[in-house]
Amino acid sequence: MGQAVVGARLAWGRPPRLDGVILSHGDADHSGGLPWVTGMFSVGRFLFSGDMPGGRTGERLARALEQGNVTQEVVAAGDRVDIGHGAVFQVLHPARNFGCHDANERSLVLRLVRNGHGLVLLPGDVEQVGIRALLASGCGMESDVLILPHHGSGSSLNRDFLVEVAPNVALCSCGYLNRFGFPAEEVVRTCANLDIPLHVTSGEGGVIAVWEGKDSGVRVVSGTGCITHLNSFLDRFSLLEQVQSSWDDLFSRKPDS
Ligand SMILES: [Zn+2]
Repeated sequence: MGQAVVGARLAWGRPPRLDGVILSHGDADHSGGLPWVTGMFSVGRFLFSGDMPGGRTGERLARALEQGNVTQEVVAAGDRVDIGHGAVFQVLHPARNFGCHDANERSLVLRLVRNGHGLVLLPGDVEQVGIRALLASGCGMESDVLILPHHGSGSSLNRDFLVEVAPNVALCSCGYLNRFGFPAEEVVRTCANLDIPLHVTSGEGGVIAVWEGKDSGVRVVSGTGCITHLNSFLDRFSLLEQVQSSWDDLFSRKPDS
């Protein structure tokens, strides 16, 4: 995934350079492609919660970071990562003393803010424990865009959280025909009840959020990824099928008697 999709997308029309990489947590669906990306791109800095992936992925990632001479920084709630142009990542979770054995609940939760305005909330894979900690902390979470926690799973559905973030739009990152059935029906229903438009990558492909002017709201452009290409291929394929069947019809037709 890192090589075939993420790396290819990030390097499309620009040099393979990233100012920074932030790892939400060590689970394979968040870290599996990272060794390739950090090894092939010039990476300025690497931020994480202190949880590195285990096994071979962890070894390959550590080697890629070392070979690239990439600065590693552990961040926690309360930290701010200035990325220039008035934009800052606020780290909202986990607190340094947050104790939970579940890696999902220890996901880094980031809020991208520009000139004091919340643009995007990226909650990783937090579920109820992490979400309750966020709500209890009283940190501001309001954001134009919410990436649904844990790929839109029912275990991460929390109405109070959605109300607190009050997004103009929600995005759900999940695989085409994923075996978990993400996004969960109750999540889709709750977003609809709260009048939050939802874009899902499994159906729409890559999704891009655009802020055009200083005071303009967010605009979402969807269908920019591989699913679109797959769909257009399938369209062509079905067109070919139709052409083929008309040829078959033509040539199998019995001569007029
Ligand atoms: Zn995940």
